[in-house]
Amino acid sequence: MTAFDDLLAANETYARSFAYSGLTGRAARGLAVVTCMDSRIDPLGLLGLRAGDAKILRNAGARVTDDVLRTLVLAVYLLGVERVLVMPHTDCGMAKVSDADVHALTQERGVDTRSLEFHTVPDQDAALRHDLTRIRTSPFLPAGLPLAGAIYDVHTGKLMPVELP
Ligand SMILES: [Zn+2]
Repeated sequence: MTAFDDLLAANETYARSFAYSGLTGRAARGLAVVTCMDSRIDPLGLLGLRAGDAKILRNAGARVTDDVLRTLVLAVYLLGVERVLVMPHTDCGMAKVSDADVHALTQERGVDTRSLEFHTVPDQDAALRHDLTRIRTSPFLPAGLPLAGAIYDVHTGKLMPVELP
């Protein structure tokens, strides 16, 4: 347990003054955010939200993968989501490597990852347009679902909205 002792100790403190017992699993602000796993991003804080307000979907690169679409369908029909923000960010590690680079790096460690698609991002604007289009044209999501894209600047904290494709 030693690798996690700090976390368990912090949780004991957290639970002592727990203030969210009244929340339900529905997104109180009707929002889903698709963003990157980058540890510099505080999705609730940067959008003025708190626990209970939004569904936060995170993966490497803020990509709209099949699993993100699956999760958005559940979020919309079961959990109160009525709008979706796709939010990649500046200085993203996924924009600095290609899938081939990652395969080569893992190969050096004796691991063959060629059966995985990493959805790296050679062109961030193009990737975001592609991902927004994937949501907009999904046959499983309501037509006209409010959708926005914005790039989060990890150095200034500002959001830069993009035009929808
Ligand atoms: Zn990233």
